[in-house]
Amino acid sequence: MAAPKVAVVGAGVVGLSTALCILEACPSCSVAVLSEQFSPNTTSDVAAGMLIPHTCPGTPIHVQKQWFKETFTYLFGICNSAEASEAGIHLVSGWQIFKNTPKEESPFWSDVVLGFRPMSEAELQKFPQHRFGQAFTTLKCDCPPYLLWLEKRLKAAGVQMHTRKVSDLWELHREYNIVVNCAGIGAHQLVGDEQLFPIRGQVLKVHAPWVKNFIRDGDGSTYIYPGIHRVTLGGTREKHNWSLSPHPGTTKDIFDRCCSLEPSLQGAQDVKVKVGLRPSRQSVRLNREVLSQGAVKLLVVHNYGHGAGGFSIHRGTAQEAARLVGECIAALQGSSSRAKL
Ligand code: FAD
Repeated sequence: MAAPKVAVVGAGVVGLSTALCILEACPSCSVAVLSEQFSPNTTSDVAAGMLIPHTCPGTPIHVQKQWFKETFTYLFGICNSAEASEAGIHLVSGWQIFKNTPKEESPFWSDVVLGFRPMSEAELQKFPQHRFGQAFTTLKCDCPPYLLWLEKRLKAAGVQMHTRKVSDLWELHREYNIVVNCAGIGAHQLVGDEQLFPIRGQVLKVHAPWVKNFIRDGDGSTYIYPGIHRVTLGGTREKHNWSLSPHPGTTKDIFDRCCSLEPSLQGAQDVKVKVGLRPSRQSVRLNREVLSQGAVKLLVVHNYGHGAGGFSIHRGTAQEAARLVGECIAALQGSSSRAKL
């Protein structure tokens, strides 16, 4: 058969990295990315991009750990290359702090990040309201540069980028052999997934170049994540809230909470407020599906629902999605050779 034509729907971190993994696994494929929005207008642009996984209740821990490890290894490779600055990838050290000692003193990802250890008494003195903490070094993506870096690699490999809202996956069946659904929260409408819901997050991106260490309150409600150019201050987690409008009261609350952990932030300047909808469900949807309309079939791979931790696992899930696309191609080749007999 001719080179299989693959459409990836979505241009957030999941869609772009999935398109790249498909090309790496199947260089003869013709891949196009179709998306309603590209950077800087995706949820992925709003994210802090810290590699600290969030536990997904419906996915086995060993699978989540594998996705995280693959992502960490991939980004660590970029971080150790001349591409690091353009891709916006850097190492950052800091502290995750708790008011009470957590049940699990070492999370499942503790041996993937670098130098994970309990905080010393001296370090804890910086946080008088907290009694326990973990110190480690992890990676951070500055999200818009990383998305642009992914786009650049895709374009260099000949991938077409089309601005297009897809209302129904069947729209694509005449033009493409396989459709990969990486629509993030958009999958709620696109494929009618009622298990998918938004967890609204509001963050501030501020200029505070003296802040070099990350600080994360253990429950994830308050965080300070320094990037290359700006520091992300967060946050909120508002389930089922679809509003993309910033809330001024929330901005003040986030700022006050972050200043209580890092008082020097009182001097932060140029505060920009961003809102994003985390595409959340019990587990990431990462599977193959064959849609049928009578005798006509459409091969689909789904890769969405990464919730609060999409950056932390994107490369691992993209590789798995590319493997599923490989299975679809094998099925297509099998059916085309049977048709010739
Ligand atoms: P998106 O970035 O939303 O991309 C979806 C794409 O699909 C978009 O391009 C959209 O236009 C397109 N699309 C949707 N519907 C259609 C349609 N019908 N037709 C065509 N195109 C369509 N994760 C971390 O790991 N670390 C963090 O520090 C972190 N911080 C975060 C902070 C905040 C405030 C928020 C909101 C999220 C954070 N996340 C973090 C989570 C992370 O942002 C998400 O998990 C990730 O961005 C999801 O990526 P995605 O590509 O699936 O979705």
